[in-house]
Amino acid sequence: MSYIHQLFQLQKLDTEIDEKKKRLGEVLKAQKEPPALLAMRKRAETAAIELQKWQTNHQDLTLEVGSLSTKAKNSEDRLYSGKVTNPKELADLQQEIEALARRKAVLEDAIVEALVMVEEAEKEKTAADSELETAVTQWEAQSGHLKTEQNELALNLHKLMQTRKTRAATIDAAALREYDELRQQRNGLAVAGLRVNMCLGCQTTVSANKVREVDEGHKVYCGGCGRLLAAV
Ligand SMILES: [Zn+2]
Repeated sequence: MSYIHQLFQLQKLDTEIDEKKKRLGEVLKAQKEPPALLAMRKRAETAAIELQKWQTNHQDLTLEVGSLSTKAKNSEDRLYSGKVTNPKELADLQQEIEALARRKAVLEDAIVEALVMVEEAEKEKTAADSELETAVTQWEAQSGHLKTEQNELALNLHKLMQTRKTRAATIDAAALREYDELRQQRNGLAVAGLRVNMCLGCQTTVSANKVREVDEGHKVYCGGCGRLLAAV
């Protein structure tokens, strides 16, 4: 194989790799969840946080009531123990017990409120989770083929890149460098096919002289786009 043809084969491989990479990018992008689904996720997350918040609140209040009850019980035990005889201390104990009872009543109201909120938060969470689950199932059914395509593309790309590596290793280093530079400057296409007398890279007509040189296996650049020409 002439060196131009080696480069032309490499170009075909690179073009295929570029196309597959581009498609892979599109496929990955298309799998991004739509805003409506993201909003449902957000709703479910918020519902879970809200429920947790009210459950914790309820738990804290219950613990506080428990500790108040213990305190009140201790004070009552002491009040009725007969061990306290000082009237001032007895009055203080009485007052403390009353204050504890008032505080407990306030807390118990808050507990009832927290329970109502827990119940509401549970309802909201159930609704949000169910809505999300339905939407996710629908989205997965809709985008499942993209995942399959993504896997196929990745596998294909891996193979193509292996082949490219093997092929590139057989090409002269200086030629390869020029090819890579041309590819960068010419929108990914360094070697253009020459069909009869037309450059397939820029669709311009190539002189008869150049066509002959290409046929003879010489290194010829298209006058229109500056790419290397290879007969197809
Ligand atoms: Zn051209």
